[in-house]
Amino acid sequence: MTEWHAEPAHLCLYPFLSAASKSVEESGVTLEDLITSAVFERARLRGKSRITEAIKEGTIRKPVIISDAQAEMELLSYPFARILVSCIGDERLVRRYALSEAKAAHEKLLDDSRRGGSSASASANIIYKMSEEFSIRMDFLAGEREQVQVPFVDYLRFTTNLRDKRWKLVNRGLGKGKLKLRKAEFVRIVQEAIYERIKKDLPLDVPEDICKAISRYTEDIKHELEEMRNAAGYGFELDSGVVVKDPSCFPPCISYVLSNLKEGVNVPHGARFAVTAFLLNIGLSEEEIIGIYRHSPDFDEERTRYQVEHIAGDKGGVQYTAPSCDTMRTYGNCVETDEICEKVSHPLNYYKFKLKLKQKQEQEQKK
Ligand code: SF4
Repeated sequence: MTEWHAEPAHLCLYPFLSAASKSVEESGVTLEDLITSAVFERARLRGKSRITEAIKEGTIRKPVIISDAQAEMELLSYPFARILVSCIGDERLVRRYALSEAKAAHEKLLDDSRRGGSSASASANIIYKMSEEFSIRMDFLAGEREQVQVPFVDYLRFTTNLRDKRWKLVNRGLGKGKLKLRKAEFVRIVQEAIYERIKKDLPLDVPEDICKAISRYTEDIKHELEEMRNAAGYGFELDSGVVVKDPSCFPPCISYVLSNLKEGVNVPHGARFAVTAFLLNIGLSEEEIIGIYRHSPDFDEERTRYQVEHIAGDKGGVQYTAPSCDTMRTYGNCVETDEICEKVSHPLNYYKFKLKLKQKQEQEQKK
């Protein structure tokens, strides 16, 4: 096996690997150096940009590494980003950051496994390295470079969050306790393993004085986060001066799911159905709704479009109505209820009620 993973230029692009942590430990750079020394300002700024890219783009760019010095800064930026995200202590940011790191690693791994560095064996080595790293017993099928097999127990460890039906065990052709996957599908499962690892210990228990020492970075990040959260809805519009798609009037159950989707959190199928039907019922376009799903960890445009069109009743079907409060309760999707919830039996009625209330209050204020 080639030692691709031991080279700093590779390690810094997969900084969650155990070899990468070991390399940081052996570098002799102390926590104090990383936080205060001018020598590591580049690593700190890159650590901050890892998080701001996660906030703004939902992924983290992988730079082209041209020197050992750059590789060292890139590698050190990862522990610094973990410290930053821990000091901010926002659970949703932690999830978004971990997901963005995992997505970026997935893209890089797909790319490396296609090109394989210099040879097909190097390509296989990257895949083997990842399977070893996450203790997934994987092997290439005899004479194959694009098909692998994995014991179903290992497969199940990392596919519980993958909602699409193609990941269900019954659709995978199980034989002798193993199932076959395309290499790209295996890499997708590795993304889940990476996400779990990155998220596992976050937020770290960082002492107060350290958080204080790096507050100039955390304040910038908090500002970005606030801007993202305050960003005007999902492109909702005003219609002849009357607000017809006003997110501030959405019921708590719908806001909760939308907020999770925006943060890149996996949302169960029933909740996706409810939110899609609700948004279609109040007049959002199919394109606007597909755009909302774009941050989902397992976003697949073709499948999402099919599902949204199905709920919208395109192609001759009936348009679905959003589920009632009773149904939402039955499936555990009624959350964070408020006083308006006590007056309504349907999320759409909640919305209409709150919209009217808001318009009335605005008119009174004008008077
Ligand atoms: S009571 Fe109805 S509107 Fe309120 S959160 Fe539950 S499902 Fe949504």
